Amino acid sequence: MLDAGFFRRWMTATTAVVEREADHLTELDSAIGDADHGSNLQRGFRAVSAALEKEPPATPGAVLALAGRTLISTVGGASGPLYGSLLRRTGKALGDAAEVTPEQLAEALRAGVAAVGQLGGAKAGDKTMLDALIPAADALSGSFGAARAAADEGALGTVPMQARKGRASYLGERSIGHEDPGAASSALLIGALADTADSAEAGA
Ligand code: ADP
Ligand code: MG
Repeated sequence: MLDAGFFRRWMTATTAVVEREADHLTELDSAIGDADHGSNLQRGFRAVSAALEKEPPATPGAVLALAGRTLISTVGGASGPLYGSLLRRTGKALGDAAEVTPEQLAEALRAGVAAVGQLGGAKAGDKTMLDALIPAADALSGSFGAARAAADEGALGTVPMQARKGRASYLGERSIGHEDPGAASSALLIGALADTADSAEAGA
């Protein structure tokens, strides 16, 4: 079972990996965007960690709801509201249970991913974060490791795509040949989830 502590550790692990990879994410965004994705997420997840530390929520759903709200209020770019909706909707789907199963998380994450699609109007293949998140949420019913592998593969799969949503779409065919920054950061979010599950299993 996954409790609120697990979800707080997932968010803290995401903050840490976003700190480590911020320059790389901004580099990806400088190729097909406006070179702010790393700093956007760095600011957002620093605020998420601070908010969770200040008043640690008692349930998994409340952890993700607070994280989502914080991202929406601190990240100016497109990715703030999109990641915010992902986490808020996932949290809402988890309800107010004190503990959830991995299968419940998988189902909730699919609802969260659907909310990103509704908000941004993007579909699979449009070269966005959804190209990592959709396969990851589907694979999560199998295992955390499978979700990580699916997210990594999905992010790399955006390289040959032409962007049809977001800032990168303004480049038309010139968006081809670059990894989508939001898909790359989504793979970090899912990788942090898998790391958190690995540590829990190891009794860490
Ligand atoms: P901005 O584009 O406002 O500078 P960021 O650089 O933080 O915001 O985030 C860019 C990322 O947001 C893209 O790489 C893409 O993955 C994601 N994105 C942008 N628009 C959409 C959308 N409509 N649907 C899904 N994801 C999107
Ligand atoms: Mg940007």
